[in-house]
Amino acid sequence: MAQMRVSRTAGLAAIALLLAGGAASAAECGKTGAGFPTWLAAFRQEAAAQGISRQTIATALDGLAYAPDVVGADRGQGVFSQSFYQFADRMVASYRIQKGRQLIQSHAAIFDRIEQQFGVPAPVITAFWALETDFGANMGDKPTIRSVATLAYDCRRPEMFRTQLLSALKIIDRGDLTVQTMRGPWAGELGQFQFLPDHYLNYGVDFDGDGRVDLLRSDADALASAANYIRALGWTPGQPWLEEVVVPANLPWDQADLAIKIPRAQWARWGVRRAGGAPLPADNAGASLLLPMGRTGPAFLVYPNFDIYTQWNQSLVYATSAAYLAARIDGAGAFKRTPNIPVLSMKEVADLQRLLNARGHHVGGVDGKLGAATRAAVKEEQIRLGLPADSYPTPELLARLRGGA
Ligand code: CA
Repeated sequence: MAQMRVSRTAGLAAIALLLAGGAASAAECGKTGAGFPTWLAAFRQEAAAQGISRQTIATALDGLAYAPDVVGADRGQGVFSQSFYQFADRMVASYRIQKGRQLIQSHAAIFDRIEQQFGVPAPVITAFWALETDFGANMGDKPTIRSVATLAYDCRRPEMFRTQLLSALKIIDRGDLTVQTMRGPWAGELGQFQFLPDHYLNYGVDFDGDGRVDLLRSDADALASAANYIRALGWTPGQPWLEEVVVPANLPWDQADLAIKIPRAQWARWGVRRAGGAPLPADNAGASLLLPMGRTGPAFLVYPNFDIYTQWNQSLVYATSAAYLAARIDGAGAFKRTPNIPVLSMKEVADLQRLLNARGHHVGGVDGKLGAATRAAVKEEQIRLGLPADSYPTPELLARLRGGA
C-alpha cells in the first residue's frame, strides 16, 4: 500500500499502520494545482519517448485534472499503530478463516495449478487475499491515473509515482485494463492483492488464458500473480513459514530476534515445544523465535519463508498477522492468549524513541511506530539494565529510562 518503499507497498489494512503522512504540506513544497497542466504536458512527452502509444496517452491524459482530494488523503493520513493482538483480532476474524477455506475449495483447480507452477500453497496466497481486500470485496474505486498522476506531480514522492504512472499507462497499452476499469484506492494500488502498477506490469500473470492480465476481475489472474510475486520474493516450496510454540520461562530471551536463526534442535534443547506440547523435531532447520507481544505473549517459530512476509509489508504486525492467518487457514489452532499484556501508546513509543536516541541508539525518526530499529534498541537497553531482553518495550522499561537509568 502506501508504504513508500521502492519495492512493494502492500495492503489496505496496512495503510493505517504504515503511512507516516503529514510530513510535508502542499504549502511547504509550494505546489498547487496551478502548475499541473504544464507538468502534464512535459510528462506526455516522456511517456511518448518511453514508447507508450499516442492513443493511450490521449485516452488517459487528455483533460486530466489535478486531484486535490488525493493530495488531501496523502497528507491527512494520521499515524497510528496497533499491537499484534489488536490487529490480529480485527484481521484474523473467524469469518475470514472460514471464507478463506471455502474459497480454497471452490477454487481448488486454480490453486492446484498455481502450486504446481509457482510452489506457493493456497493458504499463503489466500491470507494475503483476505488482508489486502477481503477477498476482492474492497479494492477501492478511484480512477487510478488521476490519483497517480497527481502524486507524480506532487512534491512528496514524485519519482516513485512517476514510475507508477508510466507503468499504469503501459498496463493500459498492453490491453489489460482501460482508463475506465483501472480503479483503486487513492494511492494507486490495483486489484485483489493491491499491486502497485509496476508490480502489476512485472509480476502480473494471465492465468485464465484470455490474453489479458486482469488483477481486478479475474480470480485466476489475481491469485497466480500473487503467487508469482511471492515466489519472486524468495518463497521456498514445501517449507514452513510460521508455527506457534510454547516457550519455557527461562529461555535466553535475547535469542528471540528475527535477525537470529537457530537450528530447531537448539530451540528444542532450550525447552521450546510445539503448540500442543509435542517436541520439536531435533533437526537443523533454521528458525527465529518471534514474540510479537513480548515473552509473556504468544510465541512463534518463523522459518526462512517468513522473510517474504516482511518484504510484502515491512510492518511486523502486518507480517505476523498475515503469516498467522495463513497458518490458521491451513488448519492451525488459535494462539494461546495471555490477557492484560501492557501496550505502550504511540505517544509513549515516541517518548521511548527520544530516550533511546538520546542514549546513542539510532532508531530513526521519532514516529511512535514500533519498528525493527526501535525493537533492536529496546533489546540493548534491556540487556544493559538486566531486564529480560525480549525486545518488547514495557512500561517498566520506559519508566526506568525516563528516570535516567
Ligand atoms: Ca486473464
